[in-house]
Amino acid sequence: MAKRDYYEVLEVNRNASETEIKKAYRKLALKCHPDKNPGDKAAEERFKELSEAYAVLSDGQKRALYDQYGHAGIDQQGGFGFSSGGFGGTPFEDIFGDIFGDIFGGGGSRRGGGRRGDDLRYNLSITFEEAAFGLETKIKVPRHHTCETCNGSGAKPGTSAETCRTCSGNGQVRFQQGFFSLTRPCPDCNGEGKKISDPCGDCRGTGLTRGQKTLSLKIPAGVESGNRLKMNGEGEPGSKGGPPGDLYVVITVKEHSIFQREGNDLICEIPVSFPQAALGCELDVPTLEGKVKLKVPAGTQSGKIFKLNGKGIPVLQGYGRGDELVIVRVETPTKLTSRQKELLDEFAKEAGEDIHPMGKSFFDKVKELFD
Ligand SMILES: [Zn+2]
Ligand SMILES: [Zn+2]
Repeated sequence: MAKRDYYEVLEVNRNASETEIKKAYRKLALKCHPDKNPGDKAAEERFKELSEAYAVLSDGQKRALYDQYGHAGIDQQGGFGFSSGGFGGTPFEDIFGDIFGDIFGGGGSRRGGGRRGDDLRYNLSITFEEAAFGLETKIKVPRHHTCETCNGSGAKPGTSAETCRTCSGNGQVRFQQGFFSLTRPCPDCNGEGKKISDPCGDCRGTGLTRGQKTLSLKIPAGVESGNRLKMNGEGEPGSKGGPPGDLYVVITVKEHSIFQREGNDLICEIPVSFPQAALGCELDVPTLEGKVKLKVPAGTQSGKIFKLNGKGIPVLQGYGRGDELVIVRVETPTKLTSRQKELLDEFAKEAGEDIHPMGKSFFDKVKELFD
């Protein structure tokens, strides 16, 4: 079946503002929310369609892709929220937290197909070099597992959960408020629809045990602080047959003692002495792959930048590398003996105006400005 245009789904025009889109989504989603239309397949489909349209149009980046390429632009992105784990992605959670929170007792994410597991975040700190060249590593992620003793049912092996009598297994009870007939989670079974009289000892009836999972991870060359790596389905397990959440590995790159990074270029400041700069010299310059020789010509000024082609950071998921920019800083000596001062005085007299080649034109300009 061909997908409908997202703007058409939300009944807004193509230049609708963020607020207009949010408003339209709330209005329409409230009408066909599954909790308000139990068992109505058409409403459920419509709700899914709305959630998907909202997930794209409420995200500036995805909306731009959609505007430019249509559904194809979004499908290529592969696996965010609704496309991998049902439609329980982020927009659903955050928007229903506030509008359905009161009426439905916060049960916004409960649906026929079970609840999707939570997404997890793992902070990974790596060195500057690891970010530059990539690395393969293993991480241990603390998370829940389906309890092996009871297979996730929460009931002691050999026993099983019984259908809750208060709600006849629906997990919800109806009540009247003014003109409205509303539902709320069943207080007897906490909305589960089932009651466990003999809970499993290993998970205390939750069906989940805490543990750790070791995951192999491949960080591509060229990553930067703040980059996120999504691992589909590696978040918390879903409940009642719902899909698992996703794991986001968030990368922090440690600072380097001599290099700084600007995009894919590497910046390295090197101090040189006044005689070195004046007479010229050969410097040992550090790069990410060891030292290289750099010829500093006679008469080099402080702040001069030398470019080492292709010695920078590899382009993330692309081709080529940035450059290394070597900035030369000429240092002024601070502790002078009286003999050194004499020599410098003598040098200054000998040099005359040539002591600062750029100074002459500068002071000429000052003269023009004030005289
Ligand atoms: Zn119940
Ligand atoms: Zn158990």
